[in-house]
Amino acid sequence: MGLAARNPEGDRLMPDDAPPPAQKQQGFATRMSHCGRAGTRVHGFVNPPVHRGSTVLYPDCAGRIGAAKRRFDQYLTYGTQGGPTHYALEDMVAEVEGGTRCLIVGTGLAAVVVPMLAYLKAGDHCLVPDSVYGPTRNLCDTLLKGWGIETTYYDPTVDEAGMRGLTRANTRVVFVESPGSHTFEVQDVPAIARAAHAAGAKVLMDNTWGIHHFQPFRHGVDVSIQALTKYVGGHSDILLGSVTVQDEEDWKAVRGAASTLGQYASPDDVWLALRGLRTMAVRLERQEANGLEVARWLEGRPEVLKVMHPALPGHPQHHLWKRDFTGACSLFGVVFQPRFSIEDVTRFIDGLCLFGIGASWGGYESLALPTTGFVTRTAGTGAFGGPMARLHIGLEEPADLIADLEQGLVRLAVVTS
Ligand SMILES: *Cc1c(COP(=O)(O)O)cnc(C)c1O
Repeated sequence: MGLAARNPEGDRLMPDDAPPPAQKQQGFATRMSHCGRAGTRVHGFVNPPVHRGSTVLYPDCAGRIGAAKRRFDQYLTYGTQGGPTHYALEDMVAEVEGGTRCLIVGTGLAAVVVPMLAYLKAGDHCLVPDSVYGPTRNLCDTLLKGWGIETTYYDPTVDEAGMRGLTRANTRVVFVESPGSHTFEVQDVPAIARAAHAAGAKVLMDNTWGIHHFQPFRHGVDVSIQALTKYVGGHSDILLGSVTVQDEEDWKAVRGAASTLGQYASPDDVWLALRGLRTMAVRLERQEANGLEVARWLEGRPEVLKVMHPALPGHPQHHLWKRDFTGACSLFGVVFQPRFSIEDVTRFIDGLCLFGIGASWGGYESLALPTTGFVTRTAGTGAFGGPMARLHIGLEEPADLIADLEQGLVRLAVVTS
């Protein structure tokens, strides 16, 4: 490979089917630096080009028929099946999550919808945690319900016996999202997966919070979903989702459903996600540290009842986080003392200077959002003790963020004293 890249003609396109260098023993940051580049070094440049394309030409008609037979491979057949830029990102995300195959779709939400529709049909039942991402709940309550697919929302902290009691003969999907992205309950995914598999159901996981810190396929997950929009993009400028699997059977199910649904992602956005992944290990490490510094500081404040951050020892499922995760991202929740109202918390957030008021986390910038009133609970898991907010900590200096939060808390305490 090195020879071709340094060829004096400088115009050798590496073979498209060259496998990525598989050196699983290397560290995450090393793999993120070197993965997803094989077969794409055009004219010797380090990064793959953006391949835009709809039609794919064949040398003859037989070649076209042969290509159609390989449509489940990374093989050029038609633009909607993706091209070399997509394949590079698919290989990288599979590497991030320890899966074998990955599919890139246009948004994180599409990455939820595709596998749900791949496995569920009229008359089926699915189990979804009460803490699930709101738009996933909306999918279940609207389209799936209308198509005769029943959803039961369960307590995210359910154990194996509890999950066994919830599965039915027609349960096809057990969905997990750990931790919940507003209230941060960590789920016992291996226990839930054992119960799900005993009932013949697939385990679908929204792993957007876990990224590479939770390796889904080592914990019994069949299909892992990520909103690449978040830390993978990392700069709040793209929307993308991924569906990663380990088994051939699951690959055919999700790839087939994505094709049927006409799912596609722009190669320009895919290229930005590839770029984001090159620096993600460093960003995540810094953001994890910044997030913990702010979270620990908040924990010590009298205005705060509790901080919902799985990496803090006081978190009710900290033991599960410690057992199953190798790190944390920088998204967590804050519950204020019950003497404060939702309006107080809203004013507190409005008065912050360095925190944007917005939803799509994982970028370089800090965000704050009131969460009370924005989380729906129907399985009786909704008592949090006080009004809540969610913080995303970016790459700013934590001391500056803390100073900003401090002026807000001082104002909050004065107003309500
Ligand atoms: C943001 C998010 C999604 C959806 O991602 P989009 O790209 O915004 O559609 C799905 N799940 C979780 C947990 C998220 O935070």
